[in-house]
Amino acid sequence: MQYFDHNATYPLSAAARKAWLDAAERFPANPSSPHRWGARADQALTEARDRVAAWLGCPAQSVIWTSGATEANNAWVAHLAGRTRGAVLLSGLEHPSVRVPSVQWLGDRCESLPVSREGVVSPEQVARRLQHGGVGAVVLMAANNETGIIQPWQQIRDLCRESGVPFACDASQWIGKRHAIGLGGCDFVAACGHKFGGPGGVGFLKVPESFQPLLWGGPQEEGRRAGTENVAGILAMVAALEERQRSLLAEPEGPFAHRSVRDSWVERLESAIPGVEILGRNAPRLWNTVSALMPPAADCRRRWVVRLDRLGFAVSTGSACSSGQEVPSPVLASMGYPPNASDRMIRVSSGWETPPEAWEDLLQAFLQVGTEFGLR
Ligand code: PLP
Repeated sequence: MQYFDHNATYPLSAAARKAWLDAAERFPANPSSPHRWGARADQALTEARDRVAAWLGCPAQSVIWTSGATEANNAWVAHLAGRTRGAVLLSGLEHPSVRVPSVQWLGDRCESLPVSREGVVSPEQVARRLQHGGVGAVVLMAANNETGIIQPWQQIRDLCRESGVPFACDASQWIGKRHAIGLGGCDFVAACGHKFGGPGGVGFLKVPESFQPLLWGGPQEEGRRAGTENVAGILAMVAALEERQRSLLAEPEGPFAHRSVRDSWVERLESAIPGVEILGRNAPRLWNTVSALMPPAADCRRRWVVRLDRLGFAVSTGSACSSGQEVPSPVLASMGYPPNASDRMIRVSSGWETPPEAWEDLLQAFLQVGTEFGLR
């Protein structure tokens, strides 16, 4: 099977697997335990924290370990609800693990940020809204999971800093695909290991000095996140992160070879299947992601996924969370697409290891299915 669903979960990297096995052997104890084995596990977490903080560009004590990005996002939303006043600006592009807790905890303090047809939030609009006053926080993901469209988070981080307003960024799809430089300047940054070759069920959150925990009932993470840390998972995640970040030092926007293969793939798909629409075609997008609305004639996205699966390609319908349930995507809705557009959405997301020939094979499979559906 050729795997083109890295935005849902990135397969465990060899470095992460090795680090996990190594940590499971070397650090069998609870990092909070008072004996030498406990201290050794705690020291390993300290070193891992230093390394993550160095990549983000923030003090090590700002980084806390979590069970993934869903928990990290819930934690900062709960913090904003308890510690800020005024409107919290966010758009329909956000992952459900941001949108849903925001509605739950912030209620009518949530204020909708407009999104362009190209799937981007405008810094000018945010600047104008900040000038108007009464803003308690601004929320913007770094790159969208469904479309790969990149957001101007650096500009919005700077606008927020100038206005003294907290800025929260879900960087789950950014980290490991683009360089992490500058993320440390956001007040909150959420990420998870399984989007860049680490294991699932582990992540981290960058928080400001004063932080109200979501999980209570233990002294871990200096009282900011109760619960025994997943030592092997954390060390494996950090090993995967370091591997990616080292490659990104040379190519901060991601591998050039992949970007050019992806771009020519899009052009050839568009010319071979009339009516295909690439989401965010003219917007900056992650190098690994293509999200396409297939022509209305074959309006069931699941039929595409099933046919491509039979031909040996794992692709997705958008966000993993809503796959299998034909619910309209709030991401597409915020970009101005009608509710039924979600039924035609296919997402292809490659990884660092995907060989260029696999893109060619995938294109041929799309063309074959397109022919079977009478689209060409
Ligand atoms: N945020 C974004 C942008 C994501 O793509 C995901 C994963 O689907 C999450 C948050 C949730 O991450 P996790 O699976 O670690 O809870």
